[in-house]
Amino acid sequence: MIQIDALPAFSDNYIWLLQDVTTQTCAVVDPGDAAPVEAWLAAHPGWRLATILVTHHHQDHVGGVARLKQTSGARVLGPAGERIPAIDQALQGGDQVQVLGLDFEVIEVPGHTLGHIAYYHADTDAPLLFCGDTLFAGGCGRLFEGTPAQMHASLGRLAALPGATGVYCAHEYTLGNLRFARAVEPGNAELAARFDEVAAWREQGRISLPSTIALERATNPFLRTSESSVKKAADERNGGPTASPAEVFAVIRQWKDKF
Ligand code: ZN
Ligand code: FE
Repeated sequence: MIQIDALPAFSDNYIWLLQDVTTQTCAVVDPGDAAPVEAWLAAHPGWRLATILVTHHHQDHVGGVARLKQTSGARVLGPAGERIPAIDQALQGGDQVQVLGLDFEVIEVPGHTLGHIAYYHADTDAPLLFCGDTLFAGGCGRLFEGTPAQMHASLGRLAALPGATGVYCAHEYTLGNLRFARAVEPGNAELAARFDEVAAWREQGRISLPSTIALERATNPFLRTSESSVKKAADERNGGPTASPAEVFAVIRQWKDKF
């Protein structure tokens, strides 16, 4: 039985902490800072950090990796296509890895960075997705290295996962993302309801994650580029008709950058 908690880091990062309660072994995803993980381990004597998963090379995701490996001896897994500190196992799309006894499949999701990977655990009841800065709740990562077409294809890969899949992304950006989503799709009732729900959670200081793939398909404009409502908004923004869902994606991603 794996329990998952979020360790907040910096202003809006989450370091996901996976805990195998039976063996008191844990794993973390994208520890941009070692301190929150060290504090958790100090507060939980007897627990051992066994694995560090990394999705991409940005400092707010890898800043604590070397130190945590040094203090815990944890195994570091990350993308083969990027420079990751202290990496032990370099992963490519299609690779299978075991973490705390769970099988994860590596999915290549270029766009935010070119080597970005996601970790997917297929499960009939509760599939899990750790997707870093690719798919966010209500939005998606900025295009620092990849093209809109690459990111659009990457998000399509994630959107095709089972609806029940838990989406564990790396930042608390949800409310801002949903504010933009409402500008794109003012007529989406499920989106409006989600905005109100997340606004209330954030007012109480509550985390807005994990999301699910089903909820993202229904409310995240970056997964809805084939919907006529999203195309219409993109066409207006574009000043002329967009030719494909990939172009719709490109237009709304650029719009979001200035929103
Ligand atoms: Zn990043
Ligand atoms: Fe980040």
